[in-house]
Amino acid sequence: MATNDIDTRFALALHHGAGALKPGDPLSPPIVPTTVFHLPGEPGGPYQYARWSNPTWDAVEQALGTLEDAETVIFPSGMATVAAVFYSQLRSGDRVLLPADGYFVTRALAEKFLAAFGVTIDTVATAALEQTDLAGYRLVWIETPSNPSLDLADIERVAARAHAAGALVVVDNTTMSPLGQRPLELGADVVVSADTKSVSGHSDVLFGHVSSRNAALVAQVRDWRKNAGAIPGPFEAWLVHRGLETLEVRFERMCNSAEALARRLVEHPKVTAVRYPGLPDHPAHALAKRQMRRFGLLVGLTLADAAAAENFIDRCRFVRSATSFGGVHTSAERRARWGDHVAPGFIRLSVGCEPLEALWQDMRGALDRG
Ligand SMILES: *Cc1c(COP(=O)(O)O)cnc(C)c1O
Repeated sequence: MATNDIDTRFALALHHGAGALKPGDPLSPPIVPTTVFHLPGEPGGPYQYARWSNPTWDAVEQALGTLEDAETVIFPSGMATVAAVFYSQLRSGDRVLLPADGYFVTRALAEKFLAAFGVTIDTVATAALEQTDLAGYRLVWIETPSNPSLDLADIERVAARAHAAGALVVVDNTTMSPLGQRPLELGADVVVSADTKSVSGHSDVLFGHVSSRNAALVAQVRDWRKNAGAIPGPFEAWLVHRGLETLEVRFERMCNSAEALARRLVEHPKVTAVRYPGLPDHPAHALAKRQMRRFGLLVGLTLADAAAAENFIDRCRFVRSATSFGGVHTSAERRARWGDHVAPGFIRLSVGCEPLEALWQDMRGALDRG
């Protein structure tokens, strides 16, 4: 998809698909907290009971679906999207390939619960996925860039090989958002996204969505939600709609700042390594340029040791110590504190919306004093 087509998609998402408005229609979607809808006689119409459908959900699903260019089902967290895909698509005897360096809880859910239903779970490092034999898999899960090491996998090539092997390809696109990377256009069957991160963007709501151009699969995911009851609240849906309206400006700012900061951090003597797909020394920089529309808002930087990393984060006024990423406030954390296989001084920096020079002066000052 050409760049300006995504711009048009985003504009359409902002304008409710640019459908006709009647005089008096609200421009912002109403929050509809009812559990029941007027339902006389034989059941019919779009709304019957609030575990099945809700007008505020529809507004968010339409906006996200317009942006993804695919039918979209929303969920109350990113993990609820992962669970919906697992439990609606997998059967006893299936084999699943998950990223060894992807979001930890995706593996935990599979190993703790799916395995008990007779599903076999294998894992492979994201950077090694392209060389992995995919024969026998029912589902191949891709997370690129991986988290926190920011390794890449070639979605187009892996999807082609996975399809030849008869597997379904799912991409967790949380780190990039639909504006930064287009997995469905690269051949993936399903996209899942934790909209808790940059899509909602204000660190005040957990949320997620599943998108696919396979109508039968989307119907199964929707049916899973209706039966399992993992449904978003109307207020949370409205908050995500509100956040989504500024995704484009926030994402541009965050990616521009992340790129500038990565280049400056490389030059700082206290920084021993910088990991960013947009830097020419990233091992998959050529793939990043081909596959990603932007290089993202996450930067990995390594300082001398754990103490140097903790001191750096504490000294910054505009970098908050927090897990998660994609919010308007820049945040950072030492990932080894969670047991990730990274150097003790490795920091995952989530670049927010602060003006770049204020952020850089703050970070440079904290490094200089370290
Ligand atoms: C945060 C995250 C999730 C889970 O999202 P929650 O909203 O916390 O459930 C899944 N995948 C990735 C890549 C994430 O970063």
